[in-house]
Amino acid sequence: MSDEDSLAAAPRAERRGKRGSCYPCLMGNRFTEKEVCVVCDAKYCSSCVRRAMGSMPEGRKCLPCIGLKISESNRKSLGKCSKMLKRLLAGSELRKVMHDEVTCKANQLYARLIYVNGWPLSENELDKLQTCPNPPKKLKPGDYWYDKVSGHWGKVGEKPCQIISPHMNIGASAIIEQASNGDTEIFINNREITKTELMMLKMVGVHCEGKPHFWVDADGRYQEEGQNRIIGRIWNKKRARFSCAVLSLPFPPTSSAETHI
Ligand SMILES: [Zn+2]
Ligand SMILES: [Zn+2]
Repeated sequence: MSDEDSLAAAPRAERRGKRGSCYPCLMGNRFTEKEVCVVCDAKYCSSCVRRAMGSMPEGRKCLPCIGLKISESNRKSLGKCSKMLKRLLAGSELRKVMHDEVTCKANQLYARLIYVNGWPLSENELDKLQTCPNPPKKLKPGDYWYDKVSGHWGKVGEKPCQIISPHMNIGASAIIEQASNGDTEIFINNREITKTELMMLKMVGVHCEGKPHFWVDADGRYQEEGQNRIIGRIWNKKRARFSCAVLSLPFPPTSSAETHI
């Protein structure tokens, strides 16, 4: 099956029985232990699961779902099966099934469903992103912006949610000014920042009069555009960590914030 086929909308299984019942045999209720297909979310009781899923070459998928991409809501459960399956499969088989579920190609994120600065990633770029020292947490398909100078990362239209590794050439190289939908006329690395970020800058004592355009590097050193003079380091300021926590803004991972004090 080509990638294109498997990108078609994932099938959703339809429950015919009452709530909580096993999909094929209609037995049981919501208290009955069941295992779930990571593609279509069909639920199977212990008598049906082996027949429905066979040898599980891609983990917990019913036979028609093998080769299809998983439902993103199930990504966090990859490699984590029910107690019921643990009882049904021998230890070595269970380990193999769970290993295949996590590592097989069909269950990986699809690079081109992840946009960075308006451009879909290539397989290589996604690999770079996922294996960098500080990768995005819980990466899902979607539209993201990435400030590769500072490492700020967020969903398009929103404030930053994380500071990831800087300097990666992924997606489109230039950030879009309106990437985070800012409306403050204050810019960091060519992105108009959000009110929340402005509040943080004020809390830590960065002067924002005159609508400055700042350059902020990955260590938090900041300067005004066109002036070759570092004003200070945002992350080392008193209350920086506190302000970010209060405003739900990301603070850099300890290594980059504190190694160069
Ligand atoms: Zn299925
Ligand atoms: Zn059943």
